[in-house]
Amino acid sequence: MFAPEEVDRYARHLVLRELGGPGQQRLKAARVLLVGAGGLGCAAAPLLAAAGVGVVGLIDPDVVSLSNLQRQTLYRTEDVGRLKVDCARERLGEINPHVQVEAYPAALTPETADAIVAGYDLVLDGTDDFAARFAVNAAAYGAGVAVVSGAIERWTGQVGVFAAGLTRHLTPGERQPCYRCLTPELPPDAETCARVGVIGALAGVIGAMMALEAVKLIAGVGEPLVGRLLIYDALAAVTRTVRVSADPACPVCGDGGRRP
Ligand SMILES: [Zn+2]
Repeated sequence: MFAPEEVDRYARHLVLRELGGPGQQRLKAARVLLVGAGGLGCAAAPLLAAAGVGVVGLIDPDVVSLSNLQRQTLYRTEDVGRLKVDCARERLGEINPHVQVEAYPAALTPETADAIVAGYDLVLDGTDDFAARFAVNAAAYGAGVAVVSGAIERWTGQVGVFAAGLTRHLTPGERQPCYRCLTPELPPDAETCARVGVIGALAGVIGAMMALEAVKLIAGVGEPLVGRLLIYDALAAVTRTVRVSADPACPVCGDGGRRP
């Protein structure tokens, strides 16, 4: 049940026909892990906290730098030099004291990922390198949870839901793809935002879409971007959505791949 303060706080959710009290209860019971407290994490985390997600896990090894502030809007100039997860935990607590924040000042590695991801119902991947995304993907698949994945570079962003972990017990034809079905190997020409740049507001757009997809998945409403990838060309102001299929040869979820 909700306290009177929560009924008031979540009033705009409670009147939504698709969400209502049952959906808000599911949000309150949910444990969501956000990997990366950079541009995408800074946009998604306050929306998850404001929405009333019960537990928000945050993992990021970095401290705030001055060049982060152009897009990482949870942080202030005076935060430069402080751990991002410490700053973020304070801000989220100010937004919604009902939310429990679990902060990990560390990188998610293949060695640590399984133990951390296993404690959550859903993972949001806002990291900016492929090795970290691969670690998140493999751990989520092993834990049987879905990944909401976001990425931004220059003027283009993408968001998708990789639900292979949720469908791993189904027959091959019924399984959803994982991130490695889309990107089997480390791209040799992978670029970083530090080198090629990124427009700041794009982090807000894609991070907010990640939070919205997470709310849909938790509440069980609408049609999440499962097996689909939405690509946003911000310069042209055009979006397109492409299908992603499960790959039988995938190194993680394929027939010869990792099996929990
Ligand atoms: Zn796969």
